[in-house]
Amino acid sequence: MNTEAANNHSNLTSVDNKQISARGKSTLHKGEVALVGSGPGDAELLTIRAMRFIEQAEIAIYDRLVSEEILALLPEGCERFYVGKEQAKHCVPQDRINEILVEEAHKGKKVLRLKGGDPFIFGRGGEEAEYMLQNGVSCHICPGITAASGCTTYAGIPLTHRGVAQGCTFITGHLQNDGQLNLPWQSLCSETQTVVFYMGINTLPTIAKKLVEHGRDINTPAALIRKGTQPEQKTYRGTIGNLAELVEKHNITPPTLIVIGDVVNQLTEKQLATPGFLDAKDYVQIEDIKTA
Ligand code: SAH
Repeated sequence: MNTEAANNHSNLTSVDNKQISARGKSTLHKGEVALVGSGPGDAELLTIRAMRFIEQAEIAIYDRLVSEEILALLPEGCERFYVGKEQAKHCVPQDRINEILVEEAHKGKKVLRLKGGDPFIFGRGGEEAEYMLQNGVSCHICPGITAASGCTTYAGIPLTHRGVAQGCTFITGHLQNDGQLNLPWQSLCSETQTVVFYMGINTLPTIAKKLVEHGRDINTPAALIRKGTQPEQKTYRGTIGNLAELVEKHNITPPTLIVIGDVVNQLTEKQLATPGFLDAKDYVQIEDIKTA
Protein backbone atom coordinates (compact mmCIF):
# COMPACT_ATOMS: atom_id res chain seq x y z
CA MET A 1 0.00 0.00 0.00
CA ASN A 2 1.37 3.43 -0.86
CA THR A 3 0.86 5.35 2.34
CA GLU A 4 1.89 8.76 1.03
CA ALA A 5 -0.46 8.45 -1.88
CA ALA A 6 -3.32 7.14 0.22
CA ASN A 7 -2.97 9.93 2.76
CA ASN A 8 -2.49 12.66 0.20
CA HIS A 9 -5.50 11.54 -1.76
CA SER A 10 -7.88 12.07 1.13
CA ASN A 11 -6.22 15.00 2.86
CA LEU A 12 -5.15 17.50 0.23
CA THR A 13 -7.20 20.56 -0.53
CA SER A 14 -6.39 23.08 -3.18
CA VAL A 15 -6.48 26.79 -2.31
CA ASP A 16 -5.26 29.33 -4.88
CA ASN A 17 -3.49 26.53 -6.73
CA LYS A 18 -1.40 25.79 -3.64
CA GLN A 19 -1.64 22.40 -2.09
CA ILE A 20 -2.22 22.47 1.58
CA SER A 21 -1.53 19.20 3.24
CA ALA A 22 -3.94 18.68 6.07
CA ARG A 23 -2.54 16.52 8.81
CA GLY A 24 -3.17 13.00 7.61
CA LYS A 25 -5.17 10.87 9.98
CA SER A 26 -2.62 8.08 9.78
CA THR A 27 0.51 10.10 9.24
CA LEU A 28 3.24 9.37 11.76
CA HIS A 29 5.51 12.37 12.21
CA LYS A 30 8.99 12.36 13.65
CA GLY A 31 8.88 12.48 17.43
CA GLU A 32 5.45 10.86 17.57
CA VAL A 33 4.39 7.42 18.69
CA ALA A 34 1.73 5.22 17.09
CA LEU A 35 0.24 2.76 19.57
CA VAL A 36 -1.07 0.09 17.25
CA GLY A 37 -3.07 -3.07 17.82
CA SER A 38 -1.81 -5.82 15.53
CA GLY A 39 -4.66 -8.26 16.15
CA PRO A 40 -4.23 -11.89 17.22
CA GLY A 41 -1.68 -12.91 14.60
CA ASP A 42 -3.00 -13.31 11.06
CA ALA A 43 -1.66 -10.33 9.11
CA GLU A 44 -4.86 -10.24 7.08
CA LEU A 45 -6.64 -9.06 10.22
CA LEU A 46 -4.62 -5.84 10.40
CA THR A 47 -6.62 -2.69 9.82
CA ILE A 48 -5.67 -0.39 6.96
CA ARG A 49 -4.76 2.27 9.54
CA ALA A 50 -2.46 -0.19 11.35
CA MET A 51 -0.80 -1.07 8.06
CA ARG A 52 -0.21 2.61 7.29
CA PHE A 53 1.55 3.14 10.59
CA ILE A 54 3.62 -0.01 10.15
CA GLU A 55 4.83 1.21 6.78
CA GLN A 56 6.05 4.51 8.24
CA ALA A 57 7.85 3.14 11.30
CA GLU A 58 11.51 3.93 11.92
CA ILE A 59 11.59 1.88 15.11
CA ALA A 60 9.14 -0.82 16.20
CA ILE A 61 8.83 -1.64 19.89
CA TYR A 62 6.87 -4.87 20.15
CA ASP A 63 5.63 -7.64 22.43
CA ARG A 64 5.74 -11.41 22.35
CA LEU A 65 2.17 -11.59 21.01
CA VAL A 66 3.00 -9.82 17.75
CA SER A 67 3.31 -12.54 15.12
CA GLU A 68 6.29 -13.14 12.85
CA GLU A 69 4.01 -12.64 9.86
CA ILE A 70 3.24 -9.11 11.03
CA LEU A 71 6.85 -8.31 11.94
CA ALA A 72 7.78 -9.26 8.40
CA LEU A 73 5.75 -6.26 7.20
CA LEU A 74 8.02 -3.74 8.92
CA PRO A 75 9.87 -1.59 6.40
CA GLU A 76 13.43 -2.37 5.55
CA GLY A 77 15.74 -0.44 7.82
CA CYS A 78 13.16 -0.19 10.60
CA GLU A 79 14.85 -0.87 13.95
CA ARG A 80 13.29 -3.68 16.00
CA PHE A 81 13.07 -3.54 19.76
CA TYR A 82 11.62 -6.58 21.51
CA VAL A 83 10.26 -5.85 24.97
CA GLY A 84 8.80 -9.29 25.52
CA LYS A 85 6.13 -10.01 28.08
CA GLU A 86 5.28 -13.41 29.28
CA GLN A 87 3.01 -13.95 32.22
CA ALA A 88 4.93 -13.20 35.41
CA LYS A 89 8.13 -12.91 33.39
CA HIS A 90 8.23 -9.47 31.89
CA CYS A 91 11.29 -9.14 29.68
CA VAL A 92 11.34 -5.39 30.18
CA PRO A 93 9.29 -3.95 33.04
CA GLN A 94 6.34 -1.76 32.06
CA ASP A 95 7.92 1.39 33.56
CA ARG A 96 11.00 0.86 31.43
CA ILE A 97 8.88 0.27 28.30
CA ASN A 98 7.17 3.61 28.93
CA GLU A 99 10.55 5.33 29.24
CA ILE A 100 11.89 3.69 26.08
CA LEU A 101 8.91 4.95 24.08
CA VAL A 102 9.46 8.50 25.27
CA GLU A 103 13.25 8.33 24.76
CA GLU A 104 12.91 7.08 21.18
CA ALA A 105 10.31 9.75 20.39
CA HIS A 106 12.53 12.43 21.87
CA LYS A 107 15.33 11.27 19.54
CA GLY A 108 13.01 12.41 16.75
CA LYS A 109 12.07 8.99 15.43
CA LYS A 110 8.74 7.78 14.09
CA VAL A 111 7.99 5.27 16.79
CA LEU A 112 5.67 2.30 16.32
CA ARG A 113 4.48 0.64 19.51
CA LEU A 114 3.07 -2.64 18.24
CA LYS A 115 0.93 -4.73 20.56
CA GLY A 116 -0.97 -7.99 20.16
CA GLY A 117 -4.75 -7.73 19.79
CA ASP A 118 -6.14 -4.39 20.87
CA PRO A 119 -3.90 -2.04 22.90
CA PHE A 120 -6.75 -1.11 25.24
CA ILE A 121 -7.94 -4.64 26.02
CA PHE A 122 -5.68 -6.17 28.67
CA GLY A 123 -2.83 -4.46 26.84
CA ARG A 124 -1.79 -1.66 29.21
CA GLY A 125 -2.15 0.71 26.26
CA GLY A 126 -3.90 3.24 28.46
CA GLU A 127 -0.91 3.45 30.79
CA GLU A 128 1.50 3.88 27.91
CA ALA A 129 -0.61 6.60 26.27
CA GLU A 130 -0.90 8.44 29.57
CA TYR A 131 2.84 8.31 30.19
CA MET A 132 3.60 9.64 26.71
CA LEU A 133 1.18 12.53 27.04
CA GLN A 134 2.59 13.40 30.47
CA ASN A 135 6.02 13.55 28.85
CA GLY A 136 4.94 15.73 25.96
CA VAL A 137 4.91 13.01 23.29
CA SER A 138 1.96 12.98 20.89
CA CYS A 139 0.50 9.63 20.25
CA HIS A 140 -1.79 8.02 17.68
CA ILE A 141 -3.93 5.14 18.84
CA CYS A 142 -5.07 2.42 16.49
CA PRO A 143 -7.40 -0.36 17.65
CA GLY A 144 -6.81 -3.97 16.71
CA ILE A 145 -8.96 -7.08 16.60
CA THR A 146 -8.87 -8.42 20.10
CA ALA A 147 -8.10 -12.10 20.73
CA ALA A 148 -11.63 -12.86 21.91
CA SER A 149 -13.04 -11.75 18.60
CA GLY A 150 -10.36 -13.04 16.22
CA CYS A 151 -9.70 -16.42 17.84
CA THR A 152 -13.34 -17.41 18.31
CA THR A 153 -14.25 -16.38 14.80
CA TYR A 154 -11.40 -18.45 13.36
CA ALA A 155 -12.55 -21.35 15.54
CA GLY A 156 -16.09 -21.02 14.20
CA ILE A 157 -17.52 -19.91 17.55
CA PRO A 158 -19.94 -16.98 17.40
CA LEU A 159 -19.55 -14.94 20.62
CA THR A 160 -23.26 -14.18 20.68
CA HIS A 161 -26.01 -16.13 18.97
CA ARG A 162 -29.71 -15.41 18.92
CA GLY A 163 -31.49 -17.56 21.46
CA VAL A 164 -28.21 -18.94 22.83
CA ALA A 165 -26.07 -16.07 24.13
CA GLN A 166 -27.39 -12.57 24.69
CA GLY A 167 -24.10 -11.13 25.73
CA CYS A 168 -20.41 -11.70 26.22
CA THR A 169 -17.90 -10.74 28.89
CA PHE A 170 -14.13 -10.42 28.44
CA ILE A 171 -12.33 -10.96 31.72
CA THR A 172 -8.80 -11.60 32.93
CA GLY A 173 -7.82 -14.82 34.66
CA HIS A 174 -4.46 -13.33 35.67
CA LEU A 175 -3.82 -13.30 39.41
CA GLN A 176 -4.06 -9.92 41.04
CA ASN A 177 -1.18 -8.40 43.01
CA ASP A 178 -2.39 -10.09 46.20
CA GLY A 179 -2.05 -13.49 44.46
CA GLN A 180 -5.82 -13.91 44.39
CA LEU A 181 -8.36 -14.24 41.62
CA ASN A 182 -11.04 -11.91 42.95
CA LEU A 183 -13.59 -11.95 40.14
CA PRO A 184 -17.31 -11.16 40.21
CA TRP A 185 -18.13 -14.87 39.87
CA GLN A 186 -21.86 -14.52 40.31
CA SER A 187 -22.07 -12.17 37.33
CA LEU A 188 -20.30 -14.74 35.11
CA CYS A 189 -22.83 -17.48 35.73
CA SER A 190 -25.81 -16.56 33.60
CA GLU A 191 -26.53 -19.41 31.16
CA THR A 192 -27.13 -17.01 28.28
CA GLN A 193 -23.80 -15.26 28.61
CA THR A 194 -20.54 -16.18 26.89
CA VAL A 195 -17.47 -15.60 29.05
CA VAL A 196 -14.00 -15.24 27.57
CA PHE A 197 -11.01 -15.46 29.87
CA TYR A 198 -7.72 -13.88 28.81
CA MET A 199 -4.53 -15.01 30.57
CA GLY A 200 -6.41 -17.77 32.35
CA ILE A 201 -4.56 -20.94 31.43
CA ASN A 202 -2.52 -21.07 34.65
CA THR A 203 -5.50 -20.39 36.88
CA LEU A 204 -7.94 -22.60 34.98
CA PRO A 205 -8.60 -25.09 37.79
CA THR A 206 -9.65 -22.22 40.08
CA ILE A 207 -11.75 -20.60 37.34
CA ALA A 208 -13.64 -23.84 36.69
CA LYS A 209 -14.16 -24.54 40.38
CA LYS A 210 -15.42 -21.03 41.18
CA LEU A 211 -17.83 -20.95 38.23
CA VAL A 212 -19.39 -24.23 39.33
CA GLU A 213 -19.52 -23.14 42.99
CA HIS A 214 -21.40 -20.02 41.93
CA GLY A 215 -23.95 -21.96 39.93
CA ARG A 216 -22.70 -22.40 36.37
CA ASP A 217 -23.51 -25.90 35.12
CA ILE A 218 -20.43 -28.14 35.15
CA ASN A 219 -21.51 -29.46 31.71
CA THR A 220 -21.50 -26.02 30.08
CA PRO A 221 -19.57 -26.29 26.80
CA ALA A 222 -16.13 -24.70 26.91
CA ALA A 223 -13.20 -24.31 24.54
CA LEU A 224 -9.52 -23.51 24.65
CA ILE A 225 -8.04 -21.76 21.64
CA ARG A 226 -4.27 -21.65 21.44
CA LYS A 227 -2.43 -19.32 19.04
CA GLY A 228 -5.70 -18.30 17.45
CA THR A 229 -5.69 -17.08 13.81
CA GLN A 230 -2.12 -18.32 13.36
CA PRO A 231 -1.05 -21.36 11.34
CA GLU A 232 -0.54 -23.30 14.60
CA GLN A 233 -4.05 -22.55 15.87
CA LYS A 234 -5.53 -25.39 17.91
CA THR A 235 -9.03 -25.52 19.34
CA TYR A 236 -9.85 -27.94 22.14
CA ARG A 237 -13.46 -28.38 23.25
CA GLY A 238 -14.90 -29.84 26.38
CA THR A 239 -16.97 -28.67 29.30
CA ILE A 240 -16.22 -26.58 32.37
CA GLY A 241 -15.81 -29.89 34.17
CA ASN A 242 -12.99 -31.27 32.02
CA LEU A 243 -11.11 -28.19 30.77
CA ALA A 244 -8.33 -28.54 33.33
CA GLU A 245 -7.83 -32.16 32.24
CA LEU A 246 -7.52 -31.02 28.62
CA VAL A 247 -4.77 -28.60 29.61
CA GLU A 248 -2.84 -31.38 31.37
CA LYS A 249 -3.37 -33.91 28.64
CA HIS A 250 -2.35 -31.68 25.75
CA ASN A 251 0.17 -29.63 27.70
CA ILE A 252 -1.54 -26.40 26.62
CA THR A 253 0.47 -23.24 27.25
CA PRO A 254 -0.15 -19.50 26.62
CA PRO A 255 -1.25 -17.72 24.55
CA THR A 256 -4.56 -19.49 25.03
CA LEU A 257 -8.05 -18.14 25.35
CA ILE A 258 -10.78 -19.83 27.41
CA VAL A 259 -14.33 -19.58 26.07
CA ILE A 260 -17.28 -20.66 28.20
CA GLY A 261 -20.86 -20.97 26.97
CA ASP A 262 -23.28 -22.83 24.73
CA VAL A 263 -22.00 -20.94 21.65
CA VAL A 264 -18.93 -23.21 21.72
CA ASN A 265 -20.96 -26.00 20.17
CA GLN A 266 -23.06 -23.87 17.86
CA LEU A 267 -21.18 -25.01 14.79
CA THR A 268 -19.54 -28.33 14.20
CA GLU A 269 -16.29 -30.07 15.00
CA LYS A 270 -15.67 -30.98 11.40
CA GLN A 271 -16.09 -27.47 10.10
CA LEU A 272 -13.75 -26.19 12.74
CA ALA A 273 -10.90 -28.36 11.52
CA THR A 274 -9.94 -25.52 9.19
CA PRO A 275 -9.49 -22.26 11.08
CA GLY A 276 -11.44 -19.37 9.66
CA PHE A 277 -13.07 -21.41 6.91
CA LEU A 278 -16.40 -23.15 7.25
CA ASP A 279 -16.65 -25.81 4.59
CA ALA A 280 -20.27 -26.44 3.66
CA LYS A 281 -19.55 -29.92 2.33
CA ASP A 282 -18.38 -30.96 5.81
CA TYR A 283 -21.44 -29.61 7.54
CA VAL A 284 -22.58 -31.99 10.27
CA GLN A 285 -25.29 -31.29 12.81
CA ILE A 286 -23.95 -31.17 16.31
CA GLU A 287 -26.42 -33.90 17.32
CA ASP A 288 -24.74 -36.25 14.82
CA ILE A 289 -21.37 -35.58 16.39
CA LYS A 290 -22.64 -36.28 19.86
CA THR A 291 -23.98 -39.67 18.85
CA ALA A 292 -21.03 -40.53 16.60
N1 SAH B 1 -4.31 -6.98 24.06
C1 SAH B 1 -4.51 -8.39 23.74
C2 SAH B 1 -4.57 -9.25 24.98
C3 SAH B 1 -3.29 -9.29 25.78
S1 SAH B 1 -3.43 -10.31 27.21
C4 SAH B 1 -5.79 -8.55 22.91
O1 SAH B 1 -6.58 -7.58 22.80
O2 SAH B 1 -6.00 -9.62 22.37
C5 SAH B 1 -2.68 -11.80 26.65
C6 SAH B 1 -3.70 -12.90 26.56
O3 SAH B 1 -4.53 -12.73 25.41
C7 SAH B 1 -3.09 -14.30 26.37
O4 SAH B 1 -2.69 -14.86 27.59
C8 SAH B 1 -4.26 -15.05 25.76
O5 SAH B 1 -5.20 -15.40 26.75
C9 SAH B 1 -4.88 -13.98 24.87
N2 SAH B 1 -4.39 -14.05 23.48
C10 SAH B 1 -3.81 -13.08 22.78
N3 SAH B 1 -3.54 -13.46 21.52
C11 SAH B 1 -3.97 -14.73 21.42
C12 SAH B 1 -3.98 -15.70 20.38
N4 SAH B 1 -3.49 -15.42 19.15
N5 SAH B 1 -4.50 -16.92 20.64
C13 SAH B 1 -5.00 -17.22 21.84
N6 SAH B 1 -5.03 -16.34 22.88
C14 SAH B 1 -4.52 -15.12 22.67
